[in-house]
Amino acid sequence: MIYKSTRGCSEGVGFSEALLSGIAPDGGLFVPESFPFYDEKALTKLLDTDYCGLAAEIFSHFADDFTEEEIRSCIEGAYDGASFPKDPAPLTALSPVLNVLELWHGPTCAFKDMALQLLPRLMSVALKKSPRRKNIAILTATSGDTGKAALEGFKDAENIKILVFYPDGGVSAVQKAQMVTQEGGNLSVIAVRGNFDDAQTGVKNIFADRDLAKVLSERGYTLSSANSINIGRLLPQIVYYFHAYLSLVKCGRIRMLSGVNFVVPTGNFGNILACYYASKMGLPVNKIICAANDNNVVSDFISTGVYNSKRKFILTVSPAMDILISSNLERLVYDISGCNAPEVKGYMDDLRANGVYSVDRDTLGKINASFWAAHADQSECRAAIKNVYGEFGYLIDPHTAVGIDVYDKYVISTGDNSPTVAVSTASPFKFNKTVYESIFGSDSDKCESEFEMLEELSVKTGTEIPAPLRGLDKKAVLHTRVCAASDMKAATCEFLK
Ligand SMILES: *Cc1c(COP(=O)(O)O)cnc(C)c1O
Repeated sequence: MIYKSTRGCSEGVGFSEALLSGIAPDGGLFVPESFPFYDEKALTKLLDTDYCGLAAEIFSHFADDFTEEEIRSCIEGAYDGASFPKDPAPLTALSPVLNVLELWHGPTCAFKDMALQLLPRLMSVALKKSPRRKNIAILTATSGDTGKAALEGFKDAENIKILVFYPDGGVSAVQKAQMVTQEGGNLSVIAVRGNFDDAQTGVKNIFADRDLAKVLSERGYTLSSANSINIGRLLPQIVYYFHAYLSLVKCGRIRMLSGVNFVVPTGNFGNILACYYASKMGLPVNKIICAANDNNVVSDFISTGVYNSKRKFILTVSPAMDILISSNLERLVYDISGCNAPEVKGYMDDLRANGVYSVDRDTLGKINASFWAAHADQSECRAAIKNVYGEFGYLIDPHTAVGIDVYDKYVISTGDNSPTVAVSTASPFKFNKTVYESIFGSDSDKCESEFEMLEELSVKTGTEIPAPLRGLDKKAVLHTRVCAASDMKAATCEFLK
């Protein structure tokens, strides 16, 4: 399999190279040159495979410079060990039509685990195939979820070190506790004085620093990133769309080949793009419903064909979707344009220069053949949490709630009654304050801390707190360092001694 850049100025590379470099040399994103196709017969054959078998089958096409054993061992290490339950991505039926795909049963209780448990294992194998590189150093700035998922995924990974920067005071108490108690011999976590942008800019500056790259290279390190533009984050996400569909067929809720809608709470457009790729691969997807929060740049784009990032950034109760530049949209536009790299490069140049780009009617029509989009504001999001709990006794987190609200809008607008899978991206206990207050009002003031509120939410709803979030406040704090944004480079140098 050859991976090409969406901006077309560089030669194609193999899977391992695409994985280790993360971004193409011309600034574009790596995309597979072709996709395997599963017809009815092939899909039926997959009905009897478990999650690991399904993942191995799909990866055999995309990771073709890996041996079968290498793929197997990475996948089993990720999904078959202690990190996930037997079914890593279980479905819960809320109504005859609506099903929830729970992607938060991993070690950090958010869907990023689905990819970040596998990516480091793939990277370790790819490293051995790359004589140019000895060790990888992963550098990440996080606003909360990604950092912890990356730490869990990369902890003790062979020949890889990871350093995470988070904004001091800029993450929730639970998120901070998750990170500062992180165990592992190859990692460090540092708070940066400033906000997320300061931390992010600091990391970008380190990546752009050629002198530093030279120093690190002499020490045997290549810098890399674990964010969702890496193709190794995207491919593992294709698997659970197949898994969800096949589960519905297996339990008799749908017939093989009948179309299913997927609703995806969207930020950087990674998760939803994996759904689109699954549909390209033959999965019978009816509509892909894109759900945005108040930062509704992507949903506006799907409705109008104009991508306009020039608007106020709004901090919402679904922070993992607070994004104005959805990087992975570039891959969709590339695919829809018929792999027209110069066209994509033009859009991205416009975006960088003016904060805006727009596609023509024909392109928009093709996007709308697959996608429907809308957004939910914060009061609609809270109402969805309350309503789903009231109607089904089922707790959803604010990101999933954005999806549920947008799905309601979809049904009202289209009358489409096809079976639907709403993708649930985080455990409600990870965002317990918003969930608690949406259901019970603001008497959460009575709770002394977020940790007490976890208990309250669990007791009041009779829902168990996921194991990784239990007793977090009692775990030993291992990472206490705080640094100025201007000291991030020095901290990195010191960490990679
Ligand atoms: C990252 C994240 C999202 C957004 O996913 P994208 O792939 O960036 O679109 C949604 N919900 C949660 C809980 C997340 O952590």
